[in-house]
Amino acid sequence: MDLTFNEQETAFRDELRAWLADNRPQTGSSNGDEDSAYARRRSFQRQLYEGGWAAPAWPTEYGGRGATQTESAIWFEEIGRAGVPLPANVLGLLLAGPTIMTWGSDEQKERYLTPILSAEEIWCQGFSEPEAGSDLASLKTRAVKDGDEWVVSGQKVWTSGAQYSKWCMLVARSDTEVPKHKGLTYFIMDMEQEAVQVRPLRQITGSPEFNELFIEEARIPDANILGGEGNGWNVALTTLMNERAGLGFLLQINLRQLLDELISTAAERGLLDDALYADALAELHVRTEAVRLLAWKGLTDVERYGQPGPEGSLVKWLWSDTNQRLTQLAVDIIGPEALTGGTSWSYEQLRARGNSIEGGTTEVLKNIVAERVLGLPRLKFAAS
Ligand SMILES: Cc1cc2nc3c(=O)[nH]c(=O)nc-3n(C[C@H](O)[C@H](O)[C@H](O)COP(=O)(O)OP(=O)(O)OC[C@H]3O[C@@H](n4cnc5c(N)ncnc54)[C@H](O)[C@@H]3O)c2cc1C
Repeated sequence: MDLTFNEQETAFRDELRAWLADNRPQTGSSNGDEDSAYARRRSFQRQLYEGGWAAPAWPTEYGGRGATQTESAIWFEEIGRAGVPLPANVLGLLLAGPTIMTWGSDEQKERYLTPILSAEEIWCQGFSEPEAGSDLASLKTRAVKDGDEWVVSGQKVWTSGAQYSKWCMLVARSDTEVPKHKGLTYFIMDMEQEAVQVRPLRQITGSPEFNELFIEEARIPDANILGGEGNGWNVALTTLMNERAGLGFLLQINLRQLLDELISTAAERGLLDDALYADALAELHVRTEAVRLLAWKGLTDVERYGQPGPEGSLVKWLWSDTNQRLTQLAVDIIGPEALTGGTSWSYEQLRARGNSIEGGTTEVLKNIVAERVLGLPRLKFAAS
């Protein structure tokens, strides 16, 4: 892995840096109002789109720049460095778009990709259910064929951003007669119908970032199946692989920014002379560097083998553990303010609780690392 940028990569970085300096997002306080904060992210994505920077990793034929993996990493790093908001349609850009490019028909690519880039149509991911999270293939939402449509009923949960979404990447059971992984179909579901009710779930941060979806005989045309009937498991794996690769890279950048902020606060308060704080911060620095280098290695694997390897699980596990330690240490360094509702550190501290659950729980990631990275034998439960 060579982390030195070549001439083309340096030019890419400089062009993006200059664009970000000239195109600042709208300012103004949201006063804790999620809807206006979201509207600002949406408007900034529109700016990115107009400047040709919404999704440089997408091929040029779909409105991207055909950027290499390294250039794509530079995009994430520069977005983080500039401190601009994340594009509103992050699940569309990183998950739905690449899944449509892999499995979609020409008509589907034509119909859905551009409004993802411009944030005109927001996407959410309807995978998890009350009794199917880690074991996704046991999901129960049912899709029954009715002429050239499907009638879908069931419940989804933890659906991030559903309240803003036009489309949902929905995995449902279309065949109950075959083994569970084979009976799934991946649908593009229109959220704008009476049969789909979105109920916000307020997190401990106070923010209703995710939702429950109650689906009661929703209608989905045949044309909205992605990747073919009964092929939902394979299509869902494409979405999940893109989730770990794309979001994984972004997360390590946020971690670095948060740590830098904490180190400067500790310095301002004269705490770096205290060996206990200096040690704890140094350990977080080493862990953060390890996450960064592992994330870069993940990109090298994609370049070399065409897809991320199981080591991506290690990055997600190490990131969530480090972020939780960091936000905990922030409480010691900042004091009661970091535990006071409405402050950014109290938000970070509470939000970090979900890190070891979202995008794969730490226990499940540890199983993957044990079996697929270290080659340890598969865990077998003793027969009762
Ligand atoms: C902030 C946030 C945002 C989310 N956004 C979305 C979204 O937009 N769309 C979506 O579909 N989902 C979303 N999720 C859901 C997330 O993917 C699930 O919470 C996650 O997959 C775990 O599933 P579960 O909650 O059903 O827990 P379960 O799978 O029921 O797990 C419960 C416990 O059992 C453990 N466990 C389960 N299986 C094993 C095993 N084989 N070995 C050892 N331990 C095991 C788990 O580690 C966990 O501790 C989000 C979650 C969070 C926290």
